[in-house]
Amino acid sequence: MSKYIICFSVVILFGCGSSIEIIDRPINFSEKRVGLTKEYIKNHYEITPESLEIDPKIIVLHWTAINNFDSCYALFNREILNDSRPDLTSAGQVNVSIHFLVNRDGKIFQLMPDNMMARHCIGLNYNSIGIENVGGEDNVDNLTDEQIDSNIKIVRTLKKKYPAIEYLIGHHEYRLFENHRLWRETDINYRTVKYDPGSRFMNAVRIGTIDLNLKGAEDI
Ligand SMILES: [Zn+2]
Repeated sequence: MSKYIICFSVVILFGCGSSIEIIDRPINFSEKRVGLTKEYIKNHYEITPESLEIDPKIIVLHWTAINNFDSCYALFNREILNDSRPDLTSAGQVNVSIHFLVNRDGKIFQLMPDNMMARHCIGLNYNSIGIENVGGEDNVDNLTDEQIDSNIKIVRTLKKKYPAIEYLIGHHEYRLFENHRLWRETDINYRTVKYDPGSRFMNAVRIGTIDLNLKGAEDI
């Protein structure tokens, strides 16, 4: 009898833990931004795409390096890069973008369709879905337990939706993919140094999704 009760409790707990609420908060993505994204794809991946649709194989986790949600959202909402990022503007005018933005309380916002290419990770944009977490200002890991839980839920939801997803990585690990079959980048000088979201956060999300058998950067 006690064995039965324990099993029953686990099912309930798992059921609660797997529920997810995603709030739609689309960023501006006019024909102009679509056109600039296609230009980026052509210049960096030598592909002339008819649409921005991608076939996701990788999930990349990030922090925004800004601790305030509204500032983060405003940044992604811009269609054109501003002049404060000369390291990026030289590679294309289209602004950076992201599929999901997780606030510090764990609330999840979807900014664009998850099968549409976002500019968030050099070399891997064409086959990855990005999740940004509000935090990490001055490169300090201040990401919250609520954000860890929400990232786990998003990863689980995405793997269910796109069974072909193979990898879960942190942005700080992206350069390990440089010789990988999934890597696409024509400009060998176009690289940035990234610290987000750090190994503590990645380890916690990997532990929470271990049963999905996603590969990490060490499995490349
Ligand atoms: Zn990042």
